[in-house]
Amino acid sequence: MAVDPKDAADGLPQTYQLSIEVAAPISVCIGRLGTFLLHAGIYVYTGSARKNMDARLIRHLSKEKKMHWHIDYLLAAPGVSVLKVVRLQESECKANQRTIGELPVRGFGASDCISGCGSHLKRLRGTALTGADSDC
Ligand SMILES: [Zn+2]
Repeated sequence: MAVDPKDAADGLPQTYQLSIEVAAPISVCIGRLGTFLLHAGIYVYTGSARKNMDARLIRHLSKEKKMHWHIDYLLAAPGVSVLKVVRLQESECKANQRTIGELPVRGFGASDCISGCGSHLKRLRGTALTGADSDC
């Protein structure tokens, strides 16, 4: 099997995706990016942590923390919850680009993105996690 050089050479997960439910429309301040109105729905955030992924994920799931990453602001907002966490070996940007959705917040989580993703937060079309309802 061909190995993409951008994928983890050691076979360990380096990328994670959070499926996030926004229960009702919210206005949320995303740090320096500003304030955005997010529709209710399912969002997917793609991030990377080559080391200490467990610690990173536990941090994401904890409500008590200082606001540091863009995702912290979103997850701290009322009515926002993480439905599912997936770990992947492929690169962060590849996983993000494979995820089809709208970009509700330009630049979200993409401060150090060099692959032109635009945002590492996407709002899925439809509401199903399986993707079965993803046709628009
Ligand atoms: Zn990217």
